[in-house]
Amino acid sequence: MNDTGGMTGLERTLGVADAARTGGPLCIVTAGIHGNEPAGVIALRRVFASIAKHKVAMQGRFIALSGNRAGLAKPVRYIDEDMNRVWSKERIHALRVADPRSDNSEQSEQRDLLAVIDRELGAQRPRVTHLDLHSTSGVGPPFTVIAGPESSHTAANELGVTLLIGLEAIIEGTLIEYMGSLGHSTVLIEGGQNEALVTIDHHESAVWMTLVHAGVVREADVPNYAFLRKRLLSGAEGLPNELEIGYCHRLEPEEEFRMLPGYSNFDAVVEGQLLARSGPCLAHEVRAPWTGTLLMPRYQGQGLDGFFLGRGTQRAG
Ligand SMILES: [Zn+2]
Repeated sequence: MNDTGGMTGLERTLGVADAARTGGPLCIVTAGIHGNEPAGVIALRRVFASIAKHKVAMQGRFIALSGNRAGLAKPVRYIDEDMNRVWSKERIHALRVADPRSDNSEQSEQRDLLAVIDRELGAQRPRVTHLDLHSTSGVGPPFTVIAGPESSHTAANELGVTLLIGLEAIIEGTLIEYMGSLGHSTVLIEGGQNEALVTIDHHESAVWMTLVHAGVVREADVPNYAFLRKRLLSGAEGLPNELEIGYCHRLEPEEEFRMLPGYSNFDAVVEGQLLARSGPCLAHEVRAPWTGTLLMPRYQGQGLDGFFLGRGTQRAG
């Protein structure tokens, strides 16, 4: 950590653990696609330390990759543009044919990360599982988002936290959208609030559980598996298995936006409830368009998604 709380000089490949025998399944875990979300990187360091300490037997290949290293160093969500909105087929094609010298900060990071992912996927594997570690600026329990094949749904259910349905139709260009479009099982987990220590715990648990589900590590070989599993499940107690997202409060670039203090993920809100203020001098009132469940209220300065609403209310706010 540097004096602004950022991670400087971060490597792209955070760790690799491989079976002695080649040809097993592959698990790719990414962290820090948003530079203000360091918890996933810290969790992955813990997992690799544990693999080394306990000499955990690998049944396949596990590789962990960092995302927005320039953002993580500052730390800010992004430098020029959101690195989790640039993975559409069109954007990737444009990146591949563009001159790297004209890359902005995130395009340069994406080009580098994409090269590693391409190389990993180039080796023929019987099965590929991807997990993307994220956290939110607001507080609240962990939840997941998926894309691609039905196997993503199974992988997310395995983690036992609420799965948000329909978000993929609202947010375009995520890394899971890309991995899913290639037919791979892919899950994004929001582990909790960006700086909360429990977020690191949730990510650490999710990585181990995904490694087991992916067939890369045997459950019996994971140190303290029951504890790790329970720790993630207890973070999501009392919440539904699935929640359908039906609304996103979208912001204009440069639009001022401020949530009212105190909102958390999964808060119940009623139609007309004042949620935020926006526009010049924050004079405009932003109210809930309908009664539902609040998700991802934006308490950071960057990003064009103000908040999301799930259908139905899940618990008292
Ligand atoms: Zn994120």
